Formats: sequence, structure tokens, C-alpha cells
Amino acid sequence: MGTSYSIRLAGARFDRRELADLHADVDAALAEINRQMSVWRPDSEIARFNRAGADEPVALSADFRFVVRRALELAEASGGAFDPTVGALVDLWGFGPDGRPPAAPSAERIAAVRRAVGYRHLRLMDDGRLAKDVPALQLDLGAVAKGYAVDKVAALLRGRGLDDFLVEIGGETLAAGVNPSGATWRVGVLRPDFGPAGTALQGIARLTGGRAIATSGDYRNFYRAATGEIESHIVDPRTAAPVGHAVASVSVLADDCLTADALATALFVLGPADGLPLLAARFPGVEALFLLRRENGRFEEVATPGFAGAAGYAP
Ligand code: AMP
Ligand code: MG
Repeated sequence: MGTSYSIRLAGARFDRRELADLHADVDAALAEINRQMSVWRPDSEIARFNRAGADEPVALSADFRFVVRRALELAEASGGAFDPTVGALVDLWGFGPDGRPPAAPSAERIAAVRRAVGYRHLRLMDDGRLAKDVPALQLDLGAVAKGYAVDKVAALLRGRGLDDFLVEIGGETLAAGVNPSGATWRVGVLRPDFGPAGTALQGIARLTGGRAIATSGDYRNFYRAATGEIESHIVDPRTAAPVGHAVASVSVLADDCLTADALATALFVLGPADGLPLLAARFPGVEALFLLRRENGRFEEVATPGFAGAAGYAP
């Protein structure tokens, strides 16, 4: 997944050997998710699917199938703002294996690539195989795989009888129970400054009960184009170009990390004007905090009415 993970456990005592076993199990679970869903590995199931032709269905492992099913539901429910088939556009704009383009892609090139984008081109069949009706379509679960992996690791810890933990993969976080001081886990929301990865915080949330917070933003994976414009790794499926607006980051609180991860990406595309009504209408119980970039390096917070209370958030 091109990132790091951390797990904190409280209230449990392990000897060295039990801890090493647990560590090995977590690594194996994550390796298995990579084997299924990493587009960076030519031998993964997703890479095989992406190379397959139209109407050449590919069998998926159970976890992969589950993630695809949820991704399709969330694509539909977000009106296509989250779309797990934007991969070819993400590559075209310089965030794939080929790296940065020398200049912005031409309108013709964008139009051509766009023909191979759209979650409606995917079909999850009753027998569990996945098919596409355009051969060039590229499935990209980069916006949900980390969240899913967090859920998977949390389930593994629960299966070991653990109740108090914090799981974090590349910033996507889930917490249960309490921290070593017996208090609710504290999770920082980063200030979305451009530049070297900083640790300055915009605020602190409190997380427990198996709920999750995921964040999408433009401040970690971006480049400055020749035009001076910042291009970042989230593509607006409506324009086929990187999202370009005042939103610097979106943090989403949900009952599972896959949902939080997908919706953070969707809300980054939509911004608060379209995103807040969507949440209110379609996602009861999901809360979000937008950080908008303002003059003089300041950030303005715009949140759902319930975010501060539900996330115990303080700036
Ligand atoms: P995240 O950091 O969770 O927002 O995921 C961003 C990653 O998801 C990008 O690096 C792309 O691989 C992919 N992606 C970009 N735009 C979208 C989109 N609109 N819907 C779904 N996935 C996307
Ligand atoms: Mg995401």
C-alpha cells in the first residue's frame, strides 16, 4: 500500500513470543490484501483483472469481492464522486507507475482515457467473478483498500480477545476501548500544509467503540504543474481532472474504516457545498470535517453539525 502502519494495544499483557505471533499474523493479513488488491504488483488479482479483456470475467478472492461490492455501493450512493475505475485518469495525470507528465494531458487524450472510466462498466456476477465491458478499464481500490485493511486488522485483534486498541494504516484509523491511561484514544487531525510532511495538528478527535476516522487531502501526494497549479492525486470523475478547489482535507467519522475511507475521497471531490447535503440525505451517522485553505496559510473548518460531538473534536 506504499505506506506504514501502527497498532497500539492497551490493557493486555503479552510475552515476547505472543507479540511476535500477533505481529506475524497482522503482516500476513496485510500481505494477503496486497496480493489481492495492489495495482503496484503485476501478480496481484487486481492486476490480472486490469489486464483481462472485456467480457472475460475474473474470479476474485472473498475479501476482494467484498471490497468491490462495497465500492460499487458507495460509488452509486456518492453519485459517482467516489469511483473505483478512475485509475487510468489517475495515471494519466501523473500518479501512476509512469510518473509525472511533462505537460497537462491534451483534451483528446483525456477524452480517450475517459471512455475506459466509469463504475457502471463493472459487473460483479452472482458466481463472484468480476467482469468489465470495456477492455481498458482499470480498477483502482486505492481510495478504500487502506480503510478495508484497518477493518480487517481490527477484526483480527478482536478475534484474539483484545478490546482496547488503535489501528492506523497510512493515517486511516480505527479505535476500540480505551488507551493505556484508561481514557478514550486521541487522534490528531493534521494541518494540511503543503511541503514536507509535518506533524502540526489542526485539532484532536477522540475515538472509541470500533469507529473509524479516515482523511483524504491534497497535501501529501501532489506536484506543481508548469502552469503553477497544484495537481493532486484525487480525480473528479465529472471533469476527469484532479480536484482543484479550496478543500485541503476531509476527515470522515464512520462505523467502519472502509466506509470512512471511501467517503473521505468522495467528499474531497464534492467539497462541502455538495458533500454536506449528500451526507445528510444518504449517510445517517457519518460525520465529516472539511479543512478549507484560506489566505495567509489559514484553514477554515466546515463540519457536519454532529462532527464535534460525535468525534469529541476540539481545534
Ligand atoms: P484516498 O487517499 O483514500 O483519498 O485515495 C486516493 C487514491 O484513490 C488515489 O491515489 C487514486 O488511486 C484513487 N482515486 C483518485 N480519485 C478517486 C475517485 N474520485 N474515486 C475513487 N478513487 C480515486
Ligand atoms: Mg479514501
